[in-house]
Amino acid sequence: MLDDKVKKLALKRLVKIVGPEYVQDQETDLILNAHDAWPLAQAKIRAGEVLPVADLVVFPETTEQVSEVLGVANEMEIPVTPVGGGAGTCGGTVPLYGGIQLDLKRMCRIHDIDHQSMTVRVQCGVIGIDLEEAVNREGYTTGHTPTSLRSSNVGGFIATRSGGSRSSLYGKIEDLTLGLQVVLPDGSIVECKAVPRHSVGPDLKQLFIGSEGTLGIITEATLRLFPIPESRRFRAYTFADVHSGLEAIRLIFRAGIKPSIARLYDPEDASYSFSMHFEFEEGHCMLLLAFDGPPERVNLDERTSHEICLQEGGFDQGEGPSRRWWDHRYDMYYPTSLTTSGYAIVDTIDIVATYDKLEQVYIAMKEAMEAHAGFVISHFSHMYENGGSIYMIFYTSQPDADAAWKNYKAIWDAGVEACLELGGTMSHQHGVGVTRSTYTEDELGSSFAVLKAIKSVLDPKGIMNPGKLGLGVRN
Ligand SMILES: Cc1cc2nc3c(=O)[nH]c(=O)nc-3n(C[C@H](O)[C@H](O)[C@H](O)COP(=O)(O)OP(=O)(O)OC[C@H]3O[C@@H](n4cnc5c(N)ncnc54)[C@H](O)[C@@H]3O)c2cc1C
Repeated sequence: MLDDKVKKLALKRLVKIVGPEYVQDQETDLILNAHDAWPLAQAKIRAGEVLPVADLVVFPETTEQVSEVLGVANEMEIPVTPVGGGAGTCGGTVPLYGGIQLDLKRMCRIHDIDHQSMTVRVQCGVIGIDLEEAVNREGYTTGHTPTSLRSSNVGGFIATRSGGSRSSLYGKIEDLTLGLQVVLPDGSIVECKAVPRHSVGPDLKQLFIGSEGTLGIITEATLRLFPIPESRRFRAYTFADVHSGLEAIRLIFRAGIKPSIARLYDPEDASYSFSMHFEFEEGHCMLLLAFDGPPERVNLDERTSHEICLQEGGFDQGEGPSRRWWDHRYDMYYPTSLTTSGYAIVDTIDIVATYDKLEQVYIAMKEAMEAHAGFVISHFSHMYENGGSIYMIFYTSQPDADAAWKNYKAIWDAGVEACLELGGTMSHQHGVGVTRSTYTEDELGSSFAVLKAIKSVLDPKGIMNPGKLGLGVRN
């Protein structure tokens, strides 16, 4: 927390930049902004614990205001925690060391759509669904539709390298971002030009994509657009085991087909997610597929995929399970009594690996996590030509707070350790935040020194989101 004198001076200077109504220091505002959708933080709040709060929440409207705010913070050495939509799952917006929370929701302008280049320039605070609906009205999709589309914003997507439900076809946000404007910790504004490809040294915008507010504030972005697909077809198959389901997916991609959705549920998750609505043999996996595009291509892709699935031992389940998932993709995450009672926590470890390791990583993580958790259910959620991600959901419930927080950490430690040991990567889409911060060095190995060196050059005073991404832990 800031010393009273420093806080008063900062407040005065920040009010001059954004106006008095856009700097908040009342406890209610600070508490409201104190957490994101990190399950541990929410469990702690339920248990009556007080999370770290900021001293001031600032709501800028323009890049210039962000620049001036960072100028002040840098000069006064005040920590700054950016807040996008606040739906991150790893505690990225928790102001661990107090200071300023920079809430970017007022920066929500959608600039012109460039129809010729099929791009759109936006401010960072545009909520995903607002952008998607705006471009839909012009006949486009952003191709980026994560489940948090209604709550997260463009800056948050980019800062966490987020992944949408159709990333197999369109790619993740790092593939969809053509240009970037960033305000560095000293307040200087930098532009990474929007071009489809280039050959002028490293792609510097990629330095900021996934930087989780530790290297600066993403203030604007130029994103790719795609025509809304003419048609979409759903298909589902059950498989006797994970191995044959994964083989089917691998061979579909190998045949040059890019389904918009390819999700494989392990037997426990298939039973939990689908057995209430569809009849299929218990103990089987469920594969959901969707194909987007012109009808002729969709027909061909569906036919070829069907042959591959049957050849790998799949049982045709028609379109029902896949269509149902699509229709409920935004409402299936609402908390249940399971997640909101006592010291219970449901959380997810999303990881990614190449096909040669994917199944082994799944088996090892499941075993390691099950040793501590009440249960673990998993699906392979985002699949690509060379591998894909696993979304491992765990449940734990303990008699008291101390045991609950310890057990939660034990599950994370066991899961991440098993993943890294077999060559997986510890996050596909949710990012690092606080939850994975202590594992970042193990994950990045020798390249962690590069990240630390970049941080020390761009943010020598360590003001930007300290304690996240394994960087800037303060005493
Ligand atoms: C129900 C639910 C479903 C979800 N589904 C998905 C999904 O399908 N795919 C997926 O990828 N994720 C998903 N998530 C996780 C989360 O929504 C994403 O990580 C999202 O990208 C975070 O965006 P946000 O705007 O909410 O960011 P926030 O939570 O506000 O911030 C995330 C991190 O980015 C930093 N940050 C935010 N804005 C900026 C900026 N402009 N400049 C610099 N740093 C910034 C913050 O400091 C923080 O460290 C889901 C979460 C929930 C609760």
